[in-house]
Amino acid sequence: MTDRLTPEQRHRVMSRIHGKGTKPELKVRQWLWRHGYRYRLNVKSVPGKPDIVMRRYRTAIFVNGCFWHGHHVETRLIASLPAITNSSCCKIPQTNRDFWVNKIKRNQERDQKNYQILHDNGWQVIVVWECQLTPKRIEETMLRVELLLNEHFLALHQPKVVPYDVQEAPISMAAEEDSYKKR
Ligand SMILES: [Zn+2]
Repeated sequence: MTDRLTPEQRHRVMSRIHGKGTKPELKVRQWLWRHGYRYRLNVKSVPGKPDIVMRRYRTAIFVNGCFWHGHHVETRLIASLPAITNSSCCKIPQTNRDFWVNKIKRNQERDQKNYQILHDNGWQVIVVWECQLTPKRIEETMLRVELLLNEHFLALHQPKVVPYDVQEAPISMAAEEDSYKKR
């Protein structure tokens, strides 16, 4: 079947469906903004082009659609055929199933690779799933995100441990007595 749309039109339609500014991502951004957090979007210089980049916290946030990124879905090979487990928020269509299984598997692999690169470069990676952003769950989800941000911020700003010069290190009497007892 040929596409009725030009590549450019197709791109615009697709990016409206799952590109920048999709609803789940917007919810995360709005929550962060309301709580005083500032961020940048789709930063190309950061590996994996995370949805939200918070340099101050050296944290990259990905807001993942449950279907495209296979939330709770395990893809694996059984007798060299791709098998997949459905989850409550990611239901693989029965029609053309192998195609979808492979697509989701590839997405998962690409995600993992990006997370690893970020992690290796000292970034904290937070993945927020679409199903965690329902009106019922968003507050709890975002409070957890906030906790992770602040924990990482503290870890980043931990005072450096300056090694003592052995000659000048003061030895307390208690420590000396202790070392005698052990002999
Ligand atoms: Zn989900």
